[in-house]
Amino acid sequence: MRVHHITAPTLCPLSATLVNGAGGLFRRGRMVCHCLVIESDDGLILVDTGLGTADVADPKKRLGTWFNTIMGPPRDPAETVVGELARLGLRREDVRHIVPTHLDLDHAGGLSDFPEATVHIFAPEHAAAMAPASAMERARYRAVQWSHGPRWLLHDRAGETWFGFDGVRALSGAAEVLLIPLEGHTRGHCGVAVRQGAGWLLHAGDAYFHHREMDPEHPTCTRGLAIFQRIAAVDDTQRRQNQVRLRELGRDHKEVQIHSAHCPVEFDRFAEAAQVESASGMPVKTTPAPGLL
Ligand SMILES: [Zn+2]
Repeated sequence: MRVHHITAPTLCPLSATLVNGAGGLFRRGRMVCHCLVIESDDGLILVDTGLGTADVADPKKRLGTWFNTIMGPPRDPAETVVGELARLGLRREDVRHIVPTHLDLDHAGGLSDFPEATVHIFAPEHAAAMAPASAMERARYRAVQWSHGPRWLLHDRAGETWFGFDGVRALSGAAEVLLIPLEGHTRGHCGVAVRQGAGWLLHAGDAYFHHREMDPEHPTCTRGLAIFQRIAAVDDTQRRQNQVRLRELGRDHKEVQIHSAHCPVEFDRFAEAAQVESASGMPVKTTPAPGLL
């Protein structure tokens, strides 16, 4: 089993200083859409799909004015999962399973590029996306992104635990993939845990946005991202509690590598490790404590 870290795509949000902490207040920043491509004996598995080819082809219709203005998505299909699969020499038709952390427009856009895949989703997130209950939910969920009729497979809690968190088994067998409910950012937001040898990789989705939020001693966040997270949360108390628990997990369990969906610093760390690995032919373990850069 092999895990590839890709960004699909890299966004250019307003204000590098407010988002990244440096680079100029009036210059655009850098934000990745960190997705995982897992090669397993049961075909390819995607964790999150970022923006898809239809989104970059028609961003106005698919993403809306606000997202385009604030986030600055590229128009290049090479920067979607489809483009990244081609770059990796993998076949788009081999994608069998998709496990989204949640269905916000910057995570579900690629679903329509893989209509044959089974989409494993936490039931409360599916319910929220199918019946948005507020103006914010109507803005963040874009029905056009699933108008092709995905093969949803809804998952609910079943009493399993994972390092003290609730765990919901999405896949077992060729690959072990768990949904870890971390509600707060959205009604059914989850992390996705992927077993890697003796350890685990946890894609924490939008549970946090900046690598320093996971610093066990002095967690901090840039001003723009702190405000955005507070505004975007459907339950901010729950969102903050999740961050405390994730920090403790990262501090106490070095065998779990945690990363968020949008932090470029974390993404670069994984990409760098992958380069070293492919140059040496030896698997490289990335630094397990993402808060300490
Ligand atoms: Zn997001």
